[in-house]
Amino acid sequence: MIPSRHTRRRGAPSLLALPVLAFAALAGFHAAASAAEEVNVYSYREPGLTDPIFRTFEKETGIKVNVVYARDGLIERIAAEGRNSPADILLTPESGLLIRAKEAGITQPLRSKVLEDAVAAKLHDPEGHWFALTRRARVVYASKERVQQDQITYEELADPKWKGKICIRSGQHTYNIALIASIIAHDGEEKAEAWLTGLRDNLARKPAGGDREGVRDIHAGLCDLAIGNTYYMAAMLKNPEQKPWADSVKILFPNAEDRGTHINVSGAALAANAPHRENAVKLIEFLASPEAQEIYAERNGEYPVLPSAKTSELVKSWGELKADPIPLADLAKLRKKASELVDKVRFDAGPSS
Ligand code: FE
Repeated sequence: MIPSRHTRRRGAPSLLALPVLAFAALAGFHAAASAAEEVNVYSYREPGLTDPIFRTFEKETGIKVNVVYARDGLIERIAAEGRNSPADILLTPESGLLIRAKEAGITQPLRSKVLEDAVAAKLHDPEGHWFALTRRARVVYASKERVQQDQITYEELADPKWKGKICIRSGQHTYNIALIASIIAHDGEEKAEAWLTGLRDNLARKPAGGDREGVRDIHAGLCDLAIGNTYYMAAMLKNPEQKPWADSVKILFPNAEDRGTHINVSGAALAANAPHRENAVKLIEFLASPEAQEIYAERNGEYPVLPSAKTSELVKSWGELKADPIPLADLAKLRKKASELVDKVRFDAGPSS
């Protein structure tokens, strides 16, 4: 059940994975003995982002944070470990995994005044099974050179004037599923299908790569528009190879004039059988504190969920974010429908005309 082949290569995977094997074997013993001083996190988020936050938490509380990082398989692993799972917290870089975790029965409801004050109701599960910790907008990256307009809507991406000009990753990727779910929520299923078909026929190439590859392909002249999450702009600017890609585009916040731009979130869930429940609650609350929120904002170019936390200067420079206010839990219900639409219109096969 240990997805070693998926374990991140950076850092020392064997060192990260081993303590968990030990926990799994000794969970019954350790739960009582060490409840006061440690907490176990299973994280789909990258170590570079969360380590500084965990170190700060350790310094302030004396509670040691043990982390297993993996790209895939953590939900399945917690499910397989069952009642003996050493996992206290699941951290994810997007909302689809939070929803799947709840559906898999590996989370528990958490009532916390601190979290309910910090995280708006539309950004957490109504029963407290998960809480968003950061937000990012799914925006349109537009060629500075070839795109004159400074406003756009998602709906407009299906307009034939963009024929052969749009790049995007797989329609089945969780970021696009969430976006398509929001189109279904706002425009209805029928219009959403027509929209997705129109978008497909405007693609410059078959859906592929990640969000950054869309911007790369704008830089290369293959497309004029690409759909991507905002924090990738921050990531590209830090990478010497990708900086020219970033410099070739401007960010357009779709639907800024009406319902607002679709946002996705990273977040945390309290594991169903958390052996260090109290420490876990402290850590999740810490992740929503001004201190942690500003580390997320500075290091990863994301938007804080805590309204009083500062957005970074770089993120501010992209313009004002007016976020689509639809509750994430409502979008969750439309994800399956969105995925079916992607298959139905054969989105990933690329343009048909
Ligand atoms: Fe991402």
